[in-house]
Amino acid sequence: MTEKTQREIHLASRPKGLPTMETFDFVEKPIPVIKNNEVLVRTLYVSVDPYMRGRMMDAKSYIPPFKLHEAITGGVVGEIAASNSEAFQAGDLVVGNLNWAEYTAVSEKDVRKIDPNIAPVTTHLGILGMTGLTAYFGLLDIGRPQKGETVVVSGAAGAVGSAVGQIAKMKGASVIGIAGSQEKINYLKNELGFDEAVNYKLDSFEDDLKKAAADGVDVYFDNVGGEVTDAVFTLLNKHARIALCGAISSYNKEEDSGPRLQSQMIKTSALMKGFTVGDYSADFAKGAADLGKWLAEGKLTYEETIVEGFENIPEAFLGLFEGKNLGKLLVKVADPTKQ
Ligand code: NDP
Repeated sequence: MTEKTQREIHLASRPKGLPTMETFDFVEKPIPVIKNNEVLVRTLYVSVDPYMRGRMMDAKSYIPPFKLHEAITGGVVGEIAASNSEAFQAGDLVVGNLNWAEYTAVSEKDVRKIDPNIAPVTTHLGILGMTGLTAYFGLLDIGRPQKGETVVVSGAAGAVGSAVGQIAKMKGASVIGIAGSQEKINYLKNELGFDEAVNYKLDSFEDDLKKAAADGVDVYFDNVGGEVTDAVFTLLNKHARIALCGAISSYNKEEDSGPRLQSQMIKTSALMKGFTVGDYSADFAKGAADLGKWLAEGKLTYEETIVEGFENIPEAFLGLFEGKNLGKLLVKVADPTKQ
């Protein structure tokens, strides 16, 4: 690599099942030249997210698929390396949906300035960014937890799930988290103050969940789908609300089937609703303000798992499907020039 070139990660092929390293292609390209009203962003942190698996398939969705042999895109925090925009100058820190690349040239409209003095820059990819907002709107608009109710969240020790449980606690609910390791169970109970936490990988999972949710389940925030969700459904209370946020257990499956849920829902008069965080874009400013306030007041806390090195982005992404992360999974690519 010369000083004038940079690395990008392209989608080399559309994966069947779990992606492998062959799904990705590292491509060396010239550092892009910016036009009028564009900025050149030097990548500092890359967010790796489960939803990206869906974009690797050529299928109809709420967001278009990644194109083959082009850079994968996602949440990035970066530093302005060069600017042809009056709104930005070199050294400004920004967040945007940018290439998995060391440098991206984009319109000034595609990035937003962030202030490192208010909160660590990485929070804009997690608790104050897309994942925090997903927890906030899915729980408060669909789940609507009331004081004394029982809220169950799956994927509980991840980026979205850990925020869901804490917000539910703030609303006075009793919170049960479901996660895949003893370390995560300890984190949920001891650090985040969840009332109960259950490991879905143990043979005793269904019994453990039943015991933890002795009063039944009023709100279920579902991040994982599959058998975990089947188990929660047997415990629904009358008028339960189910926020369908993600189904990571099926993202790498060609086909998935399960129990039919209709009669369970009829019997409990339950309400189930899928959503994407983009449904709430008109209200993002309010959500971000509330999350920022709770963070500043110490009512909300967050964890990050940070993998180092641009070359480790694909492996970090694959780690999501093995539960390698506690909280938000990020890859650190570079330090800012101004520390
Ligand atoms: P996480 O930080 O929660 O990371 C993914 C976690 O999923 C892993 O750490 C792992 O934890 C768990 N997991 C992986 N495979 C399985 C499996 N087969 N069964 C059960 N759990 C599994 O990711 P995010 O917080 O970013 O996302 C959580 C969910 O929310 C995802 O499904 C994602 O697609 C969805 N999402 C939806 C959005 C929307 O707008 N609707 C926006 C953002 C995210 P463990 O060790 O516990 O297994």
